[in-house]
Amino acid sequence: MALRFYNTLSQQVEEFRLQEGNLVRMYTCGPTVYNFAHIGNFRTFVFYDLLRRWLAARGYKLDHVMNITDVEDRIIRNSIEQHKAIKEYTEVYEKAFFEDCEVLRLTQPERWVRATEHISEMAAAIAKLGEKGYTYTSEGSVYFRIASFPDYGKLSHNDFSGIRAGARVDVDTYEKADARDFVLWKSPKDGEPFWDTPIGPGRPGWHIECSVMAIEYLGETLDIHAGGVDLIFPHHENEIAQSVSLTGKPFARYWLHSEFLLVDGQKMSKSLGNFYTLRDVLGRGYPPETVRYLLASVPYRKQLNFTFEGLQSAKTAVERLRNFAWRLDQEKFRPGANEKIAERTAEAERQFGQSLDDDLNTAGALGATFEYLRDANVAMDSGDFREQNVPAARAFLGCFDSIFDVLRPSAQKQSLSDAEVEARILARAEAKKARKFGEADRIRDELTAQGIILEDTKDGVRWKRK
Ligand code: AMP
Ligand code: ZN
Repeated sequence: MALRFYNTLSQQVEEFRLQEGNLVRMYTCGPTVYNFAHIGNFRTFVFYDLLRRWLAARGYKLDHVMNITDVEDRIIRNSIEQHKAIKEYTEVYEKAFFEDCEVLRLTQPERWVRATEHISEMAAAIAKLGEKGYTYTSEGSVYFRIASFPDYGKLSHNDFSGIRAGARVDVDTYEKADARDFVLWKSPKDGEPFWDTPIGPGRPGWHIECSVMAIEYLGETLDIHAGGVDLIFPHHENEIAQSVSLTGKPFARYWLHSEFLLVDGQKMSKSLGNFYTLRDVLGRGYPPETVRYLLASVPYRKQLNFTFEGLQSAKTAVERLRNFAWRLDQEKFRPGANEKIAERTAEAERQFGQSLDDDLNTAGALGATFEYLRDANVAMDSGDFREQNVPAARAFLGCFDSIFDVLRPSAQKQSLSDAEVEARILARAEAKKARKFGEADRIRDELTAQGIILEDTKDGVRWKRK
């Protein structure tokens, strides 16, 4: 069976086929750098990484673009509050994000693109939508008229036929029931930073950002567009409306969406305050490979409930894998080859591939791996596993690790840099100001775990290393 993915657009599992050649043009929605990414966000980013790795393992070449949303409402609000330029505010979090990606061994897309570096292209696209009659302007802001796009709702499978013409929404994220004309260009309110462009002063809405950068780098029709399920509506629905209205072509052929990481049955999110950053978790002594393993272990279309017990089991699983790799490297096996073991190894590799071909069924792939480990360990104990069975077993483990990438232990993380400490202290102050005391305490605990002592004084926070 060939490689298959569940396509949100058709609501079917479909065979993955390119229109031509073997280059996959893929766009995935990246982080909004207004704060540290939490491990819920990283579940989605780990999914992108697994997708990249499996496409490559199946012989595809990749042209993958991921955006950095470095201008939006929360960024504007926080940067004004902190008297900082947008860039000055976002670069701390952007840097932290890249560091976290490296720690989690996420393979890099071929291109990272920042919204703030494509403002004139976005303004030009909005002007073009205007010329084609898809937009209207109100108080300097430009809106997309969804009644002008009959296919609106096809991705999220919503029926919007009863929508009131002219009702509009200025925020970038909103509920289904709020499906209204969405904002493409926001005119600046008092004191807000803005760009001067031929369509007037202002800043782009979130949705136009992805349409414009995807088309610019990947062409009018992408092969794959991916994101978390929360992006299906309105973000991806709006991306389709804008892009198809601009080009007249389908925007993406396969739409892949990953499910949430939950905490106690609720989506892990900043707004609920129930989140852990990667740094929180590492600060509690869990190695990054454990987090990577946990996030990869449940197939991307299933929800995953985060618990520290789950993380502990992931740790045990990684240790079992390493133990097996160690046996292969260190033990002396009897000479010769055992045909049955050779077949068992080939079978495991086949099952591993078939599972990942099946819409990236990582649980199936891990199941195949651990059943093999159990059988091979028994054969090693009984002396049935022979010297000449080692290379194939090693090759299978190599194939496993080219996707899951957990065998190599990470170097112990050195202590936080001064800049990282300052950033955490700032985040704690913000949390306190927003009366999110639980979050503030957690940041203090995380710092304490890293040997950083905070002292609240009347002149602000002082800190020192233990
Ligand atoms: P943001 O930085 O808020 O723009 O989100 C970045 C990515 O993380 C998006 O693709 C979201 O869909 C995804 N995301 C946010 N929360 C979660 C969660 N709890 N579990 C999985 N993915 C999430
Ligand atoms: Zn996007």
